[in-house]
Amino acid sequence: MSPTSRTAESLHRTLLGDRAGLLAVLDRPGSPAGDGLRPEEIPPPRRTGPPDGGEPAERSYGLLEMLRSTVGVNRSCVTDPRRYFALEEWAAVVDPPLAALLAAHLNLCLGSLLQLGSSPEAEKALEDLEAGRATGAFLATEAVWGSDLARLRTEARYDADRREFVLSTPDDGAVKFMPNNALRKLPKIAVVLARLRSGPQDHGVHAFICHLGTVDEPTPGVRVTPLPDKPGMPTDNALTRFRDARVPLGALLDGDGHVRDALRTGGSPPIDRPAAFARSVARVGIGKVGLSAVSAAMARAAVTIAVRFAEHRHCAGAGAARVPLIKHRVHHTALIDAVADTYVASYAAGAGMATATRAAARRHVVPTPDEAHRYTMTKYLVTSLCHHVLAASQGLCGAHGMFAVNRIPLYLAVNRGCMTAEGDNTVIALAAAREMVHGHDEATLRSPATHPLPSAGDLQAWAALAAAREGQALRTCHRALAAARRAHTHVLDVWNACSALFLRLADRHAHRIALDELLAAHRQADDAEARQLIACLGEVHALGDLRRDAAAALRDGLIVPEHLALLDHRTDHCHDRLRPRLPLLVDGFGIPDSLLGVPAASPAFVRDYLRTHRSGREH
Ligand SMILES: Cc1cc2nc3c(=O)[nH]c(=O)nc-3n(C[C@H](O)[C@H](O)[C@H](O)COP(=O)(O)OP(=O)(O)OC[C@H]3O[C@@H](n4cnc5c(N)ncnc54)[C@H](O)[C@@H]3O)c2cc1C
Repeated sequence: MSPTSRTAESLHRTLLGDRAGLLAVLDRPGSPAGDGLRPEEIPPPRRTGPPDGGEPAERSYGLLEMLRSTVGVNRSCVTDPRRYFALEEWAAVVDPPLAALLAAHLNLCLGSLLQLGSSPEAEKALEDLEAGRATGAFLATEAVWGSDLARLRTEARYDADRREFVLSTPDDGAVKFMPNNALRKLPKIAVVLARLRSGPQDHGVHAFICHLGTVDEPTPGVRVTPLPDKPGMPTDNALTRFRDARVPLGALLDGDGHVRDALRTGGSPPIDRPAAFARSVARVGIGKVGLSAVSAAMARAAVTIAVRFAEHRHCAGAGAARVPLIKHRVHHTALIDAVADTYVASYAAGAGMATATRAAARRHVVPTPDEAHRYTMTKYLVTSLCHHVLAASQGLCGAHGMFAVNRIPLYLAVNRGCMTAEGDNTVIALAAAREMVHGHDEATLRSPATHPLPSAGDLQAWAALAAAREGQALRTCHRALAAARRAHTHVLDVWNACSALFLRLADRHAHRIALDELLAAHRQADDAEARQLIACLGEVHALGDLRRDAAAALRDGLIVPEHLALLDHRTDHCHDRLRPRLPLLVDGFGIPDSLLGVPAASPAFVRDYLRTHRSGREH
């Protein structure tokens, strides 16, 4: 192994850890990726039914079946989430809508059945999903109840005589909105969140198994209406309405069965509504990390395509000669910034995955507050950062970046979905910041002190500066909240007076996490050049963040005006250092060429475009 590839290998290990082995299995010949993904080789779903809309999503269902029958899409991915994350990372690169499908089918539906089910009905549904006899969906969101899911209105009324629940949608606003259940080439099994009622009592939100229908017809009382197209993200989203759909007692997913026991014996179930809700949405925590893994994998792929494009694409140089795009400083500095952010996002996603894996080993069903906070911050940080990387990568490929065959538009659309699904980023970041403010006593926060600008490569000092900026943001929130409470009586006015500062606190907190994870990766790297590169990438990221937030850092006295003059110089130095290492840095992502055979990544792109349009007619 040459020193260069040893460095790339070392970077790869810091990025993927022990998921690298799982991904390698997916990339081996004979596995779904094989020696290159050829759409014509993707088998159709095993049975075909009447056309029922959502056709573009069929490709993803075909790939899901390939994964199931080759590497397995089953309960082992729940008990060892690294398997789930590796599947998501692979899917994200190859077919981003498949990643969205896996999130619902495997993590939310199959995961809920495994962790919350203890009835023969739950076991049967689980086996059907694992054997490919059905696909899964998770029906939580309602048309009117999105981010405030706990108020959802779908009802599950207990019929004591028949020991069944009757699912119903009380009004248009309570129709289930978004889940992927329009396409039913296989029977569809759903986990449905509904408000449990027995007699006049409301026992809060619980999860229920509901078979939505066979290939030929929907279940009595279930009506599914496909939603219109979402450009760039062809998943089979639908509206679902229940009208007296009956499910057995064993369909209630209450973990140990205590609610079912109480209902069966005619008693009133113990009502711990917050606990029931937390249990019903428990898989959303892992889901947030999964969406982070998806976004980071797509960012790695997009930036690899953009670097390859910049190497083969020629354009005007300063004189008559044409030069590769990568020779232009404005172009390669933008690439370096995107690569740096991609490393940061990947490290943060990796840390979230490690937290989730440890939690699974401890058999935690409902995340602890610390775990939940970590999952939230991981999604907020990673999916937002990747959004910038993906948009930059698209722009750096010019017109080529706009074509679906080059995948970046699909990556962007799915990343946009990741920012919204399983908790809208703004909403969850604000909630996390609110918890931080309420969880800290202002008196315990240290006063700000001016920091020297960290010297080159000193990630420890950058992490310390990030922590100081976070502490100051927290103090600012405390003061703003106290002032708002004095000035306003209405709760919304108090909140509106400080919510922008709370969002800024979330940003500062996310940046501190990013620096901590960079530092951890730096320590972990087993190659000297890899360590130097990580330090330099971290500095590019930290300098960019400080430049964007310089006004606040100056106002808070954390830096002095003289530092501002140094920012550009230091950034230039890092860019110069990293420029020759750009190809090596994307080699560190370790994406096999067979997975990235898109026209924009190849000097033979014209031929590739012609080949992808083989069936088309020339004019
Ligand atoms: C790709 C994709 C797949 C999905 N899959 C599923 C699925 O399988 N099952 C399922 O049940 N659901 C699914 N969803 C729905 C998803 O859970 C919701 O979209 C999400 O919870 C946000 O709800 P909403 O879209 O209704 O947005 P809203 O809650 O209406 O938010 C709209 C806007 O208002 C802002 N906002 C909302 N509340 C506040 C507030 N309190 N303060 C400030 N701003 C606020 C948000 O930031 C956002 O910009 C999916 C969504 C997407 C995008």
